[in-house]
Amino acid sequence: MIPCPPVEWRQPAEPPAEQAPQPAPATAPGYASQLRPSRWGWVAQKQWCVWVEPGPTTDRWNQRWQTAVTTALSTWGEQVRLVRVSNPDDAQLRLWRRRPPLQNGRASHGRALLQLQQVQRQGRESSALEPLVEVLISPGQRQAAIQATALHELGHGFGLWGHSELSSDVMGAVPGAKPALELSERDQQTLQWLFEQPSALPAAPSQTTAPEPAPPSDLTAD
Ligand SMILES: [Zn+2]
Repeated sequence: MIPCPPVEWRQPAEPPAEQAPQPAPATAPGYASQLRPSRWGWVAQKQWCVWVEPGPTTDRWNQRWQTAVTTALSTWGEQVRLVRVSNPDDAQLRLWRRRPPLQNGRASHGRALLQLQQVQRQGRESSALEPLVEVLISPGQRQAAIQATALHELGHGFGLWGHSELSSDVMGAVPGAKPALELSERDQQTLQWLFEQPSALPAAPSQTTAPEPAPPSDLTAD
């Protein structure tokens, strides 16, 4: 069981400039060469505490949304270990049932936003860098479209901050005529490549002095 409840969290210190992460080479498998690392490096972890916004159980529109996102979570659950939590404060990834606000005048059905935080958890000697991902999935679509949107945005959330050029991949930049509801071979290869990279997450830089407050390190993608 992952110790989900954090004791406290704060903004992480800025990463040293000489540690600027490099993107993947063009020869990397799948569409890994399209991925962007965060300023702290690759956001790669195989276990996530996930919270899903509840809704009225009698509302069939909410039931449809819950079924679609739960199915998408199960699909990713074959690649990453997911722990569902009932308190949003305990989560590293939060799935919200709402339409993303317009961004640069552009509407979309889903959005994912990453912040990195310095988190102190119970039973640990020191704090560590952890992700906090907010995923917004619009309820106003057909069930298959909600599921495809959730698969795509969860892919960003789990570290695939980039797009494939193929609509047959769940991370395709442009959705195909038929929604991608299964992870393709390329989706899995790309995630596997990510897991083989040095992750920014497990080993947080140890701070002997209090860090200056830093602006959030945001990666955002539709
Ligand atoms: Zn996207």
